Amino acid sequence: MEYLDYDDNMTAETLKSSGIDVDVAQGAVQELLKALGENPDREGLRRTPERVTRMYAELLSGYKADPDVIVNDALFQVKYDEMVIVRDIEFYSMCEHHMLPFMGRAHVAYIPNGKVLGLSKIPRIVDMFSRRLQVQERMTRQIADAIHDLLEPRGVAVVVEALHLCMMMRGVRKHNARMTTSAMHGAFRSNPATRQEFLDNISRGASPLQI
Ligand code: ZN
Repeated sequence: MEYLDYDDNMTAETLKSSGIDVDVAQGAVQELLKALGENPDREGLRRTPERVTRMYAELLSGYKADPDVIVNDALFQVKYDEMVIVRDIEFYSMCEHHMLPFMGRAHVAYIPNGKVLGLSKIPRIVDMFSRRLQVQERMTRQIADAIHDLLEPRGVAVVVEALHLCMMMRGVRKHNARMTTSAMHGAFRSNPATRQEFLDNISRGASPLQI
């Protein structure tokens, strides 16, 4: 029985504009299946190279994202100078060492210096950096740097909590191996009370990460 053609909404144009070399990627997945001792021509695997290629185009779409396009006209001049916190932003990324997912939550805070960003844009920035082959530390820093560059705020802080399938499924099988990374700029770095206010806020009512 053949299942649905595709389980995604990706159009041919989206796939084309992804920058992925579709033919080479499909051939490589087919070769990998063979190298793993599989028969890529058996029914269940016949369209796997195609599906995997489309999946990567979606999961790794962050390379093509442009922060200026994401922000568009959602940058506002305001006098507000209190801390802005967006917590529990769900994200999915791919560890570049094993090409397995890591996923969790990002918490972002900044202290405006004349400019604020529309709230829905912060998760878009998180997506932009998570939908790549990543290491969690670099992703955390890139999110902080992007917000720093866009807003030139008095400070920006990012904390990322994630579960890594490459740690959970293999080796020592640490099922609860949660990793936390942070990046702090400006007031969050220089002022312990500011940093603590953010950390207290994100730990309040936090539920444990689960898959
Ligand atoms: Zn890994």
